[in-house]
Amino acid sequence: MKETQQMYEGKAKKVFATEDEKYVIVNYKDDATAFNGKKKGTIASKGVINNRMSNYLFQMLEKNGVETHFVEELDERRTVVKKVEIVPVEVIVRNIAAGGICKRLGLTEGMKLCAPVVEYCYKSDELDDPMINDDHIKVMDLATEEEMKTIREMTLKINGLLQERLLKADLILVDFKLEFGRFDGKIILADEISPDTCRLWDVHTMAKLDKDRFRRDLGDVEEAYQEVMRRLMESDNK
Ligand code: 5GP
Repeated sequence: MKETQQMYEGKAKKVFATEDEKYVIVNYKDDATAFNGKKKGTIASKGVINNRMSNYLFQMLEKNGVETHFVEELDERRTVVKKVEIVPVEVIVRNIAAGGICKRLGLTEGMKLCAPVVEYCYKSDELDDPMINDDHIKVMDLATEEEMKTIREMTLKINGLLQERLLKADLILVDFKLEFGRFDGKIILADEISPDTCRLWDVHTMAKLDKDRFRRDLGDVEEAYQEVMRRLMESDNK
């Protein structure tokens, strides 16, 4: 499939139209931002890793009955995906306390949560993605109750599948963010699953192998992204 004009440039990806209005091509960049764009930088080869890792995990999810926007990987940075109408709700799942939940509730980083915690944020750069609940989603007409029921069910299923797969790569899925879209009247998984959108800790040392290395200036950022991808590939048939 051939790309035509650029439709949109986001913080980590560019999106191009194609000759078929049902599909778009995403092109992953090496640009990195944090704290809603206040911190900027680049992470060498990040785009290549995020493209490959996201496609790999989306295909694993598809095999397990989760519908996603993935269509075809074109090359190391570019993928054809279904053109969805994004639901403007970021869905965050937490298995272990870190980041936002520690700040908000005073929990100690690393505390195991006895059940997954699902949070919703309104996708808005101007407002800094504020946390919202089902009532806000309803009155702001961001999604129907039926859609949110589907999103929550899909999210919990995805959490289980990802935790299991990542553990085979000696990685703990601490938390992550998902985005969903509407396609042909259905809710499907969109956006990406990568070290940009997940917190991933080494199962033995608890070392951080994700974007927190960039956010918190921990060093070895590129190496962490490479390490995650290497472990995923090496554990492919485990
Ligand atoms: P927190 O709320 O603790 O900052 O983030 C929780 C999880 O969701 C982390 O894995 C983080 O990477 C992901 N996350 C939350 N908001 C965003 C966002 O706007 N962009 C990206 N890439 N990830 C996010």
